[in-house]
Amino acid sequence: MENIKRNILLNPGPSTTTDTVKMAQVVPDICPREKEFGDIMRQMRTDLVKIVHGDPEKYTSVLFCGSGTINIDVCINSLLPEGKKILIINNGAYSTRAAEVCEYYGLPFIDLKFPVDSLPDLAEIEKTLRENPDIALVHTTHNETGTGILNPVREIGALVHKYNAVFTVDTTSTLAMRPIDIEKDNIDFCMASAQKGLMAMTGLSFIIGNKRIIEESAAYPKRSYYCNLFLQYDFFEKTGEMHFTPPVQTVYSTKQALEEYFAEGEENKWARHTRVFNAINEGLDRLGFRQVIKPEWRAGLVSSAVYPDDPNWSFEAVHDYCYERGFTIYPGKISTTNTFRLCALGAIDEADIHAFFEVFEEALRAQNIAIPVVYED
Ligand SMILES: *Cc1c(COP(=O)(O)O)cnc(C)c1O
Repeated sequence: MENIKRNILLNPGPSTTTDTVKMAQVVPDICPREKEFGDIMRQMRTDLVKIVHGDPEKYTSVLFCGSGTINIDVCINSLLPEGKKILIINNGAYSTRAAEVCEYYGLPFIDLKFPVDSLPDLAEIEKTLRENPDIALVHTTHNETGTGILNPVREIGALVHKYNAVFTVDTTSTLAMRPIDIEKDNIDFCMASAQKGLMAMTGLSFIIGNKRIIEESAAYPKRSYYCNLFLQYDFFEKTGEMHFTPPVQTVYSTKQALEEYFAEGEENKWARHTRVFNAINEGLDRLGFRQVIKPEWRAGLVSSAVYPDDPNWSFEAVHDYCYERGFTIYPGKISTTNTFRLCALGAIDEADIHAFFEVFEEALRAQNIAIPVVYED
């Protein structure tokens, strides 16, 4: 198993992992009901609260087996009291997903929409909260991974708390990369999956949030069996285990990834992602690509480039050329504009981005796409 091919993933997760994280999955078979395995999960729950600087008396974390979307599902279906309403602050694909979760559970919700390339309007959020005193739960996305825009969660959270609602934030594409302070950022619940900021494997997701609110939610309507937050929390508290079978090998790789996270350190890791992000933007700028989100609103992790108006442009052909050479680029997630994304997640650094742009430029030339790229207007 030495010499595992190193692929540079510029898609928004799963991300490029270290070989030590890959290899950490290869362990003697173990029944996850053994104490030894429970100890690993207990430490993991503590470490996750530490990543967002939560006071362990006040905050806890709850693990689930599933991709990151399970967290959105769990928060929305578990944290709404009877007779109350949800507010989704929606400027992109991932908040739209939360609105769809509300729809699927038949929950009353307001879908407060803003354009995908602009920040939500705080005055409009406050007006909505004031006019709808039955809103008990507000949800938004920190870094809208579909575009890469950074939403002002601290300011939104202050408004949410002023109107006595609970604030859940989808931090799947920032947590363990862009620093988060759960209390100062006015977040009640944040979330991620192991395969993004932590640079581990797919299949493990977690919600980090306020213990008291979880305990209160025991009295709320139960809308899902597998995806109920209190049920999973309570089982962890009583037994130290997941209610149902955990993703055993992913837990081992996440344990290793957490050790590597703390060894690199929050500040150094964020500096590295920033270096990668800057190198991506410099490369795109040099080739003349336009981006959807203006520089001061970018979360520093996802670049959304607009397709050039070149008759020879083919995302698929460029993708395939890069993919064959070990670099993965990814389509965009905006319904009205054709875009592709380059992301700064994962165990990569500036040099990988320089190597990528050599290949990417070759790919453009191979397709006879004009450089710098052209736009009609
Ligand atoms: C990746 C991601 C998710 C989870 O998506 P899955 O396909 O379930 O892994 C949720 N929210 C955001 C903001 C994300 O970037």
